Amino acid sequence: MRILIAEDDEYNQMVVEAMIELLYPDVAVEMVSNGAEALEKLKTETFGLLLSDVDMPLMNGYELVSEVKNMGLNVPIVCVTAFAISGDREKLLMHGFDGYISKPIDMDDMKTVLDKYLLGGNVE
Ligand SMILES: [Mg+2]
Repeated sequence: MRILIAEDDEYNQMVVEAMIELLYPDVAVEMVSNGAEALEKLKTETFGLLLSDVDMPLMNGYELVSEVKNMGLNVPIVCVTAFAISGDREKLLMHGFDGYISKPIDMDDMKTVLDKYLLGGNVE
């Protein structure tokens, strides 16, 4: 299983990668810093999960999720974002994201998402 992470902030990149490493040491993590790079990867490589930031240069998370859906790719896309206001979750799901983790990232939230998509279990 491989996970693609799209995140422009170096600190957040480190945090997300460290959490995945702790929870699922055998999972390979590929890191890109914007939506455009993520899309290029997705065109030629297969990932079991895409974790995407919203606010990124060149192509943001909303644009990325639209492009991925337009291309007919069925990789699950979980949004990792600082937005935490009530109603944001619905907005993100409406845009095509399959799930949502709010920053600062809680280890339990990350585990729930990884369990769901890596184990295929219906955890939520
Ligand atoms: Mg960002």
